[in-house]
Amino acid sequence: MNAELISIVIPVYNEAESLPSLFKRLFPVMNSYTHEIIFINDGSNDNSLEILEHEQKNNSCMKVIDMHGNYGQHKAIMKGFENAEGSLIITMDADLQNPPEEIPRIIEQYNHGHDVTGTIRMKRHDTFFRKTASRIVNCITNIITGFNIHDYGCMLRGYSREIVKGILGYKDEDIFIPALAQRLANNPVEINIAHSEREYGESKYNLHKLIKLFMSLIRTAYIARRRK
Ligand code: UDP
Ligand code: MG
Repeated sequence: MNAELISIVIPVYNEAESLPSLFKRLFPVMNSYTHEIIFINDGSNDNSLEILEHEQKNNSCMKVIDMHGNYGQHKAIMKGFENAEGSLIITMDADLQNPPEEIPRIIEQYNHGHDVTGTIRMKRHDTFFRKTASRIVNCITNIITGFNIHDYGCMLRGYSREIVKGILGYKDEDIFIPALAQRLANNPVEINIAHSEREYGESKYNLHKLIKLFMSLIRTAYIARRRK
């Protein structure tokens, strides 16, 4: 497999402070590739949408989609998938916790024939509570699915067009994307990836959103298991 057009899909919820630094680091990395960058504004109530639309005027590789409401990270990514035209589709967060400089390593895995590139955050820069909760959730999910995935929560991941097509079959359901992708994959790989502290603002996940995310992961784990 050789990536022709590469789509980067980035959900954005109140990331006005992070976006300028994201542009500054992401665009030079992607300029070495034929690419499009799809930003999905997930109902931000700061001026993220204005910043994105302003930047788009100077960048023909950018697409900006507005969800007109806050539907959550995974629904926003689904919307990005619907609009992605690449042969390789890479998801990442907007807050620079996923360093854009790691993207070439995902592209390399795709070029080696991997249809799903999962990632494990090295030296994860999150609170003790979040890291412990993730460890427990990873473990429960692996028990349900029978997978052996180390880090379901890192969203800097790569999917072939075929995998994204498969995921879009579930677009009306409440899906946790990495778990479903693993079930659909023919040749998945997991690589270690750098992780940074959030430089601007705070996590957009409060306890309520974290519980919803957990329930979506468990639901997806059962769907993934049923397909065995
Ligand atoms: N996000 C989103 N909708 C939400 C919550 C988060 O689109 O309701 C986006 C957010 O802007 C970021 C990514 O999802 O690009 C991950 O969010 P965050 O960094 O707050 O999560 P954490 O790192 O705390 O897991
Ligand atoms: Mg983050």
